Amino acid sequence: MPVYPDTAVHSQLQNVFGFDSFRDNQQELVEAILASRDVFGIMPTGGGKSLCYQLPASLLDGGCIVISPLISLMKDQVDAAVGIGLKAAYLNSTLPGSEQQEVMRRMEQGGYQLLYLSPERLALPGFMERLKRSPFSFMAVDEAHCVSEWGHDFRPDYLSLIKVREALPHLPVAAFTATATKKVQQDISSRLRLDNPFVVRASFDRPNLFYQVRPRQQVNAQIEQFVREHRGEAGIVYRLSRKDVEKTASYLVSRNISALPYHAGLDGAARLRNQEAFNRDDTQVIVATVAFGMGIDKSNVRFVVHGDLPKNMESYYQETGRAGRDNEPAHCLLLYNRGDYFRLRPFFDELRDKQEREFGLQQLRKMLSYAESTVCRRKAVLAYFDESYAKENCETCDICVHGTKKHDATVDAQKVMSAVYRTDQRFGITHIVDILVGSRNKRLLSFGHDRIKTYGIGKKEGKQHWRMIIESLLAHEKMVMDGGEYPLLKLTTAGENILFGREQFVHRVLQHPEEIVRQEVGYNPELFTELQIMRREMADAAGVPPFVVFSDRSLHEMCSLYPENDAEFLMINGVGSVKLDQYGETFMGAIKDYLAEHPEIEKKPIAAQRAPVLRREPPGGVEVSDTLTETLLLARKGLGVEAIASARGLKPTTISSHIEKLFLRQEEGIEIAQFVDSDLLALITEQFLQHGYARLKPVVDGLTGKVTYDQARIARGHLTGS
Ligand code: ADP
Ligand code: MG
Ligand code: ZN
Repeated sequence: MPVYPDTAVHSQLQNVFGFDSFRDNQQELVEAILASRDVFGIMPTGGGKSLCYQLPASLLDGGCIVISPLISLMKDQVDAAVGIGLKAAYLNSTLPGSEQQEVMRRMEQGGYQLLYLSPERLALPGFMERLKRSPFSFMAVDEAHCVSEWGHDFRPDYLSLIKVREALPHLPVAAFTATATKKVQQDISSRLRLDNPFVVRASFDRPNLFYQVRPRQQVNAQIEQFVREHRGEAGIVYRLSRKDVEKTASYLVSRNISALPYHAGLDGAARLRNQEAFNRDDTQVIVATVAFGMGIDKSNVRFVVHGDLPKNMESYYQETGRAGRDNEPAHCLLLYNRGDYFRLRPFFDELRDKQEREFGLQQLRKMLSYAESTVCRRKAVLAYFDESYAKENCETCDICVHGTKKHDATVDAQKVMSAVYRTDQRFGITHIVDILVGSRNKRLLSFGHDRIKTYGIGKKEGKQHWRMIIESLLAHEKMVMDGGEYPLLKLTTAGENILFGREQFVHRVLQHPEEIVRQEVGYNPELFTELQIMRREMADAAGVPPFVVFSDRSLHEMCSLYPENDAEFLMINGVGSVKLDQYGETFMGAIKDYLAEHPEIEKKPIAAQRAPVLRREPPGGVEVSDTLTETLLLARKGLGVEAIASARGLKPTTISSHIEKLFLRQEEGIEIAQFVDSDLLALITEQFLQHGYARLKPVVDGLTGKVTYDQARIARGHLTGS
């Protein structure tokens, strides 16, 4: 039998963290850590990596040291952990010296379940000695890709982790990262010297993200329109240059949208201020260059707009990944223009190393073909990470929602390829387009290309059209780009087949690209706005970011389930007993007022909507009752019989008979220790063995005053159900 039974782990999940169930891979990682193994968790942003080390840290005697790269995030992380009742602190240079001493003193006494450390701390003289004296059960390394020079966030300080490995060879290590590249993953594993680790590489699919790509026309007006459609929702707008960041930010401000800029040209204080304002929902939008990155732990980013084409798929994935960490729907919009490719090329052209340059350009082309492709975006993103996506239609990307239609472009393709062929396949895209539209440019004339047959043949369609056709031919490998510095267009065999009329070129185009895609919301937006304001006030008063008070997910549930009493409030995702005590009254007050003002709202019983929670099929076709479900949900949150009875307004006897049934059915997530401690259980067991299970009275009488009927009844369920 494992040291930590399933039920202990589940009840901790529900009681402390307030979650009904584990997300994919979390339980396996938690269990491996509890079994003192090294683990390596590779999960996308929002996958719930923190829980994987926080939960075992809350169960194991020694707690956990957490290595985390950003000092600016530690306070929020600790606030959030303390907010659910964990003993947590951080140790970094922002604390005054005396406090640092105090934290280290408590650390040596085993006073923390979670202690966040910046990696540079490990290199400070004497620190390792103190760490050795502290009784930690394991070390968690968050953002573990920072240890790899291959990644984009390499931190030399992370190399100090080797010292911990040497000083404390038996301390298990749990490493976590969201990086998707396998090269970096291998590097991490060897640098951290993970010893036969339990490795989980999760799917990189982010089902709650909606992917959309639109041609860029008037960028600022397009962004404005998009932001207006997302009123009250926080979002990031990425722009390529600092200048464009400033322009877009001031444009939005001039249109009365609250927006702040963020780029490396701002001084450190301004950057921090703007980031904080965004974190705390004081500004709706942050307009930023890619410098705005890892420092964002904000879970309620509802959209990410790219105003320019990113340099590669990895960046695109990481940047869009900052949306919807709370797993609620979020929208990723890419506005791009073919010209972006030519604006970005110089970044790579400047690279001296030929291999690097060609790799970079190849990655850029992949990004471009993503933007222009007509296959499901999700499929394309996952394919980039060598992951296949099984569903035909993902239902959350522009292509899948709008559909595409077939378009026969054989004649256009022949015009393009004929120009390529007649100029001996020795020219690039711009030159070929110039021929087709009949440009008078000197270089073209000097080659005599105004005399070839296709010269000027595509004047009326315009340059943009021909670039699209060429891109499509490249994407379908009818042509290839050859050569590093000035890539030339060349026909493939498939291309020749089209040119010489042996095959047709049919490509797909998006069907109704004008339509803006908006996902339906499943909650009451008016009440949401009210609760959002309330959340912000409470957060400000406590000096924490709003998402530390409640996640968007919790608020969304409050605005669709309308909890009005403790029992109902505890059924909200993310609400455990600590949150109930702290915020329950205020939020439920607002919900009650709202319901009173809106009698038209029909509230449905919450337990019924949270089903299926009960694990087992009821024996003999007995109906699964909502009342049993409701008791189970509360028991899982760690409430005792009395507490459940008073939360539900029922008699304790009723509740204890529910619980007996739940044990009989072997439901997950409840533990006998919640109701009857082990010494007492032993005594009760003896009595039952003596008198049989049919009646409770002899057991209660036999233990004169030590045990109640409720306890005996629950113990019976436990003893006979297992
Ligand atoms: P990551 O570090 O992997 O990006 P986080 O640990 O920040 O992700 O978690 C993302 C969000 O998911 C947080 O709001 C967290 O509270 C929530 N979360 C984590 N695990 C669960 C779970 N089992 N059920 C519901 N929400 C969860
Ligand atoms: Mg994280
Ligand atoms: Zn799709």
